[in-house]
Amino acid sequence: MAKRNNVDMALKIAREAHQILGAMGITGDYSIMRHMMNLESVITYEGTHDIHLLITGMDITGIAAFK
Ligand SMILES: Cc1cc2nc3c(=O)[nH]c(=O)nc-3n(C[C@H](O)[C@H](O)[C@H](O)COP(=O)(O)OP(=O)(O)OC[C@H]3O[C@@H](n4cnc5c(N)ncnc54)[C@H](O)[C@@H]3O)c2cc1C
Repeated sequence: MAKRNNVDMALKIAREAHQILGAMGITGDYSIMRHMMNLESVITYEGTHDIHLLITGMDITGIAAFK
């Protein structure tokens, strides 16, 4: 749950920072796109947001929504 929330929050913050920088946010002058690309990797290799939700749901309810 911590991992799922951590990566989700980090991505939201990175997207917000990108919006604050506007067009400059997609240039190489600022490092925000590098952070966003790193975070998109992390949300994949650490297990996607949806997969973590399915596992948490199974842990709480004892019922697997996937087989
Ligand atoms: C940069 C990088 C580094 C990596 N390093 C490692 C590593 O060191 N060790 C390692 O073991 N692996 C590593 N991986 C692999 C990584 O763990 C897998 O990519 C990840 O677990 C997702 O598996 P997948 O790509 O096969 O996607 P899939 O499992 O095919 O998922 C594709 C989509 O379907 C959804 N989905 C999958 N199953 C279900 C289901 N039952 N019900 C509903 N939706 C579902 C997912 O949420 C996702 O949106 C790495 C991947 C990347 C990109």
